[in-house]
Amino acid sequence: MELMDGKELAKNIRANLKEEVEELKKKGIYPKLAVIMVGDDKASAVYVRNKSKACNEIGVEYEEFLLKADTTMDELLELIQKLNKDEKIDGILLQSPIPRHLDINEAFMAIDPKKDVDGFHPVNVGKLSLNQDCFVSCTPYGIIKMLETYNVPIEGARAVIIGRSNIVGKPLIQCLLNKNATVTICHSKTKNLEEVTKQADILIAAIGKPEFVKGNMVKEGTAVIDVGINRTDEGKLLGDVNFEEVSKKASYITPVPGGVGPMTIAMLMTNVVKAAKYREQK
Ligand code: NDP
Repeated sequence: MELMDGKELAKNIRANLKEEVEELKKKGIYPKLAVIMVGDDKASAVYVRNKSKACNEIGVEYEEFLLKADTTMDELLELIQKLNKDEKIDGILLQSPIPRHLDINEAFMAIDPKKDVDGFHPVNVGKLSLNQDCFVSCTPYGIIKMLETYNVPIEGARAVIIGRSNIVGKPLIQCLLNKNATVTICHSKTKNLEEVTKQADILIAAIGKPEFVKGNMVKEGTAVIDVGINRTDEGKLLGDVNFEEVSKKASYITPVPGGVGPMTIAMLMTNVVKAAKYREQK
C-alpha cells in the first residue's frame, strides 16, 4: 500500500505556482483573489484562513469581504458585480455556507464565469461536462491530479464515487469520464452499496460520515480517495474511510488530514493563476 501524500504534492504545486506568479508580476500582472464571507461560520473561518495563507505563500494578493449575517441579496449581488468589474481582481470566491435567507445559486450565477475560480458557475459546470477548457471545481481537480501524480491508471478503470454533491461527487463524474474511466455514482438511496463499491478500481468517498467505508466494502488493490472531513467531539479529524481496515487492502490511499484537503487549496491557487492569465490575453 502506498500513501498518497496530498500535503507534499500540494507543496510542490504551490512552489511551481509561485514561479508562475513571479513571471506574471514581471509583466505587470499581480494576481488577486477576492473572498466573500457572509456571517461568521466558524468552520468557514478556518477554510478562509488556509486560503489566505496559500495566497500569501505563492505571492497572490488576497482581499476578504466580510458581510454581516443580515446582508440582503441585493447587497451581496451588488458586491459581486463590483468585484466582477474590478480589473485588478482575477478570482472571486463566495465561501459557503451563507445564511439561509440568501440564495446561494443566484449568487454563484452572478459571478463572472471567467473569475469563478471555484468552478461552481453553470457555465463552468456545463463546459466541464462538454470536456471544454474551464475552471474545474477544486476538490475533484485535486483528486485527478493526485491519481495522475501517483500513476494510478484512470483510463478504463472502474471508478466508484460515494456522494453526489454539486461540489465533489457530480463534477468528479465528468472529470473521471473525461479521463476515460467507467464511472458509477452512489448515494443514500443506492441499494447494495457494498456490492458496487467492491467492483471499484478507484473508490472515492465524499459522504461526510466518519469511517463509513469499511474493509469489507473494498476489493484488494483498490486506490482509495477519502474526501471526508469529520471532526469528533474530542476535536480529532476523521475521514469517511476506516483507514486501519481499508489500508490493509488498498493499493493507494489518502490520509485524513493531509490528503485531499491540501490538494483542494492547491487547485484553487492553480485556478487563480489561470484566471490571472486571462488578463494577459486581453
Ligand atoms: P454532502 O453532505 O453535500 O453530500 C453527502 C453525500 O453523501 C450525499 O450525496 C448523500 O446522498 C451521500 N450519503 C449520505 N449517506 C450515505 C449513505 N449511507 N450511503 C451512501 N451515500 C450516502 O457532501 P459534500 O460532498 O459537501 O462533503 C462530503 C464530505 O467531504 C464532508 O465530510 C465534507 O466535509 C468533505 N469535504 C472535503 C473537502 C476537502 O477539501 N477535503 C471539500 C468538500 C467536502 P444523498 O444525495 O442521497 O443525500
